[in-house]
Amino acid sequence: MDTPTMPRPEHPAPGAPADEAAALRATILHKLTYDLGKSRLGARDRDWFIATALAVRDRIVDRWIDLTRATYQSGAKQVYYLSLEFLIGRLLRDNVCNLGLVGTIRDALEPLGVDPEKLRIAEPDAALGNGGLGRLAACFMESMASLGIPAFGYGIRYDHGLFRQIIRDGWQHEFPEDWLNFGNPWEFARPEISHTIGFGGVVEAVTVSEARVQHVWKPGETVQAVAYDTPIVGWRGAHVNTLRLWSARATDALKLEAFNSGDHIGALSEKVRAESISKLLYPSDESPAGQELRLRQEYFFSSAALQDLVRRHLRVYGDIRSLPDRVAIQLNDTHPAIVVAELLRILVDLHDIAWDEAWDITRRTISYTNHTLLPEALESWPVPLMERLLPRHMQLIYLINAFHLDEVRGKNPDDGRLLSSVSLIEEGHGRRVRMGHLAVVGSHKVNGVSALHSDLLKQTIFADFHRLFPGRLTNKTNGITFRRWLQQCNPGLTGLLVEACGAEVLDDPGALEKLRPLAADAGFQQKFAAVKRANKQALAALVRDQYQLKIDPDALFDVQIKRIHEYKRQLLNVIEAVALYDEIRSQPTKDWTPRVKIFAGKAASSYHRAKLIIKLAHDVARVVNSDPTVRNLLKVVFLPNYNVSLAEMIVPAADLSEQISTAGMEASGTGNMKLALNGALTIGTLDGANVEIKERVGDENIFIFGLTTEEVAKHRAAGIQGAAAIARSRRLQEALEQIEAGVFSPDDPTRYRDLVASLRASDYFLVTADFDSYYDAQRRVAERWRNPAAWWQSAALNTANVGWFSSDRTIAEYAEEIWNVPVKRSPDNR
Ligand SMILES: *Cc1c(COP(=O)(O)O)cnc(C)c1O
Repeated sequence: MDTPTMPRPEHPAPGAPADEAAALRATILHKLTYDLGKSRLGARDRDWFIATALAVRDRIVDRWIDLTRATYQSGAKQVYYLSLEFLIGRLLRDNVCNLGLVGTIRDALEPLGVDPEKLRIAEPDAALGNGGLGRLAACFMESMASLGIPAFGYGIRYDHGLFRQIIRDGWQHEFPEDWLNFGNPWEFARPEISHTIGFGGVVEAVTVSEARVQHVWKPGETVQAVAYDTPIVGWRGAHVNTLRLWSARATDALKLEAFNSGDHIGALSEKVRAESISKLLYPSDESPAGQELRLRQEYFFSSAALQDLVRRHLRVYGDIRSLPDRVAIQLNDTHPAIVVAELLRILVDLHDIAWDEAWDITRRTISYTNHTLLPEALESWPVPLMERLLPRHMQLIYLINAFHLDEVRGKNPDDGRLLSSVSLIEEGHGRRVRMGHLAVVGSHKVNGVSALHSDLLKQTIFADFHRLFPGRLTNKTNGITFRRWLQQCNPGLTGLLVEACGAEVLDDPGALEKLRPLAADAGFQQKFAAVKRANKQALAALVRDQYQLKIDPDALFDVQIKRIHEYKRQLLNVIEAVALYDEIRSQPTKDWTPRVKIFAGKAASSYHRAKLIIKLAHDVARVVNSDPTVRNLLKVVFLPNYNVSLAEMIVPAADLSEQISTAGMEASGTGNMKLALNGALTIGTLDGANVEIKERVGDENIFIFGLTTEEVAKHRAAGIQGAAAIARSRRLQEALEQIEAGVFSPDDPTRYRDLVASLRASDYFLVTADFDSYYDAQRRVAERWRNPAAWWQSAALNTANVGWFSSDRTIAEYAEEIWNVPVKRSPDNR
């Protein structure tokens, strides 16, 4: 054992810790008095949080400034990660842990009578994202800092992040999230850093010489993008990067002329229109928003990012032609795909670079991450809208397309199907610009986010591109940062892992493998189970205090936490609960495994079917939880307002991880990685990264069920309907009949009639086809649970074998194979 005492995930700084704590205490009190204007006695938890955050931020700033300057001096290549979403969550614990200040903060606050935990939860949860895509961006920012890769994240500083979910009578209601209400102590407003973003207007062709026509875009409207910077600290304070979020301001705050002439409303309305761009995050996940405001958001932050990085590049290096050597731009999904046209515009229109060279620079600089295969989720914009909002970009997209199609035609004469398949313009019901195609054509690398997803990209939506551009499509399986998703959210397990594998697990996820031989050890299993028990007790206390619900920490915690989506199939889980409920009532004396089914997740506000599924979960919960014959053998709970902070409570307490999407539909998933890392066993389909989790944890330590991607495709092609599967399964039939008949909705017996009818008819997501296989897999889970030695061995082997899913590994792969930048600390790549 390397570290005999209970270790903490921190690294005490050299020097006198007592002095350090005293110094930090003095800074905190100074901030409280002079930045917040509060006395010690009048200060609330929130005030202590802000004062502490400001004190911690001071510690970050010196390094940040030094490291940023060093990057420019060394000429190191910069990565720019463009994402419309960053699902950050709280930052205090993250920064304190990464700076190694956990003990110092505790010692600093103790004599003040301030509880660090109360202060921690006073921080609002920054939810500038919907789900997995935004959380990935946040994990990547942390990993890039930890690996010493100089990087900027660029996004939008939404006034209102993802809505707050309130459940009333089982129905979801959305309320605005006001994360900025009490100020944001982490960020630095940079009013001096702003860029002018144009919209609309006209393009004039100016003949500058006989050989050359210059195109001058005269926007009809401009908006200012103002920078707000948040420093992102890497593990052990190794490096500090910048998350730069843009806020929209009207160019002339109030048109004085209009104001003076009495048109106050008119003068204000322009300001409102401009500033609406960064007002709110579109609350839709996995489906394009489609509105003009969304396109304005996309261009707003893409243009601000490009202007910003080009200006920086020119200031440091002086020559725009060296951009691809010094800059790598990564597009997180197609939301920033307009960058392709914007960079061309800057090169061709503003820097007089000839087309071929400009196109070469563009492609060598940009790369694109695809997040979805669903054709209906691929972004496209009506040509007339693009023409009106971004007239010069539309011209450039036509030109890119013309050259692109010429090239394709040259190599594939007479292939009309191919030409229309790879065109940037979709013909047919109204012409549209395909943003995915623009991103593929304008990038040197395109990646999917799991092995299966990347293979399917090559076989389906990008098959033609894969043949045209061999080698451009690649895979980068997603990852999660182990600092947040293990060390910070699960200090109990982290302590045990350090005890078992040595302190190197804090730096090298590969060291988790040392756990393998211990997984069968009864003494170790006991400790592992005890950690899980304590985490479940903490979750049970939260559920009791906040939702007045009692759950038993000795029951199996069966967890499905993610956005509510038909393809993620929460419905399958709820129907299984109904079937299990029936079985328990019909055989009450059988040795059932006590189980708590925990759901959490938000539905897009306009997604009625998803909201109905939330209602069904509540209706089933009410009936099951109040039935005395069930005797706590089954409990169903839905925890409202799923966000990063709630995930940090649930993940360490989960026994079973539900990853049950229809095969071929989940690009990767990252919730699956968080849960496996924290010792939950997965019940899942062969979808997304589940496939790779299975390969690593071993077939015996995961419960796989259901149709494969190919079988799903066959089912759909054959037009197989749910009715056939329902007829074959007595259990499913009975469960659906009850739901349909209003057993769970006596107040409105027809509430679920259409829902069940759609399962009988089309059942696109194959809930019925997979039901029996899922039900059987759940019984295998229960059987394993009844054998604690077998269960805890599997649980420990999950933790031991998923080190590869560290986002440090993912980022190291991007760095080496896409960005061509060095990493400072080489992570374990086994
Ligand atoms: C990890 C995470 C997600 C993604 O979960 P999936 O199960 O991969 O869909 C979504 N929301 C939050 C808050 C998360 O932390």
